[in-house]
Amino acid sequence: MSFTLARFIFHFAGISSRAAGTTGSCGSLLSTSGRRKFTATPIPLATKSSEELLVVVGGGAAGVFGAIRAKTLAPNLNVLVIEKGKPLSKILAEHYPRGHKELRGSFFNTHSTADTLSWFSDHGVELKIEDDGRVFPVSNSSSSIIDCLMSQAMKIGVSLQTGKVVTTASASSLGKFLLKIEKRTIDYVEYVEADYLLIASGSSPQGYRLVAQLNHSIVDPVPSLFTFKIEDPKLAELAGVTFPKVKAKLKLENVRRNIPQLTQVGPMLVTHWGLSGPVVLRLSAWGARDLFSLGYEGILIVDFTPDLNMEDVKSILSQHKLQFVKQKVLNSCPSEFGLVKRFWKYILNRESLVEDMLWASISNNSLNSVASLLKHCSFRVTGKGQFKDEFVTAGGIPLSEISLNTMESKIHSHLYFAGEVLNVDGITGGYNFQNAWSGGYIAGTSIGELARVTDLEERVL
Ligand SMILES: Cc1cc2nc3c(=O)[nH]c(=O)nc-3n(C[C@H](O)[C@H](O)[C@H](O)COP(=O)(O)OP(=O)(O)OC[C@H]3O[C@@H](n4cnc5c(N)ncnc54)[C@H](O)[C@@H]3O)c2cc1C
Repeated sequence: MSFTLARFIFHFAGISSRAAGTTGSCGSLLSTSGRRKFTATPIPLATKSSEELLVVVGGGAAGVFGAIRAKTLAPNLNVLVIEKGKPLSKILAEHYPRGHKELRGSFFNTHSTADTLSWFSDHGVELKIEDDGRVFPVSNSSSSIIDCLMSQAMKIGVSLQTGKVVTTASASSLGKFLLKIEKRTIDYVEYVEADYLLIASGSSPQGYRLVAQLNHSIVDPVPSLFTFKIEDPKLAELAGVTFPKVKAKLKLENVRRNIPQLTQVGPMLVTHWGLSGPVVLRLSAWGARDLFSLGYEGILIVDFTPDLNMEDVKSILSQHKLQFVKQKVLNSCPSEFGLVKRFWKYILNRESLVEDMLWASISNNSLNSVASLLKHCSFRVTGKGQFKDEFVTAGGIPLSEISLNTMESKIHSHLYFAGEVLNVDGITGGYNFQNAWSGGYIAGTSIGELARVTDLEERVL
């Protein structure tokens, strides 16, 4: 058995500290507190090299999932998650205007959506798949997901410390990572030396700073998944109206290349400030970078009858005219369109058709114009919806700087990244959680397998 004293926690004189790795429970692994004015003194964290330490920066979906996976594969690995706020806070249902998490889609073949679903059902979370592919816990409560992850982490001995921020990170010549950890509320600092480092800090600027300190670059973060601001008082009067299925195309000036994802089909919602709903959020994600550079201006062209072609729409309108000659146009919208009266009125107003006009007196030209408007209704996007926080940030570490099959940095070995800290712009729009689960799982697998080999080698020696 070989021994090393190379790994330390530095803490400050007069402050109590327990050695990491000496407890297998999920509690405070490094229960220190104190004042910065004391002199730093290194305290051995563990003496056996077989007791390696993985520090995970960020207790979000990617960090917690990665920590669990690594600890599952390598039970002797000390796994410490440092979270500055509350763990898994973004999974809470009330944070999701869309009402739930979408686990649809797969970024990494090695850990697909199906694998994520199996993992959660194997760990006691019953899931249901909606017709449109979205996945919910049967309990309809996202706390089932949080409880499952937290209890699994606790069961296998992952340690989680909250209210602490990793403020600096550097790589040593011995291939380890020296981390400075501070408390948010009090004057407190400690240093940890880690054998493996997983940065899963989401879109936090503090996380990006760590990334830069470790010589990685950052694609400038821009907001993604936002609603569209549309200045149209008549549209604002329709706030709350929903469309179960529209086809919407976002046209952006100077964007000549054909981006198929800038056309989306799905539900849309009218809000007080414009348009929202899955279709709009997905368009915002795919157009995030171009919209940012264009000051969030563009044209949205909406097809309100995507299952009918133009000729069908015209013929439905002509037949309706013949059938309902004596009825007011406003009071009788062809049911095939599935439109609510308030929106039908909006369409008629946009065509300057008098509301109490009878079907008998509507010209064929006007019918054709109504048909065109239903199929190509354009809205000028003048900005981004006003939210406290954007749902997601596009940008982060370029994927070219990591190995996607391990999530390991190409710059430092034993350094890993997962989740939203990466530039996964291309898969935003409901696939973010899957990116976090997949990335966390793959990074955890890589770390766990390495640590297990090291542990076995130590035992053989
Ligand atoms: C309002 C809202 C709605 C969303 N809706 C959806 C949706 O419907 N579907 C979907 O797929 N995605 C959605 N997302 C996105 C999804 O939540 C994220 O993509 C996902 O949580 C990313 O996981 P992560 O683990 O990479 O990052 P996060 O969940 O952001 O976790 C990172 C954690 O790291 C911590 N941290 C950062 N820096 C440090 C540091 N230096 N030291 C210590 N801790 C640190 C942060 O406090 C945070 O808890 C939504 C996000 C928001 C905000």
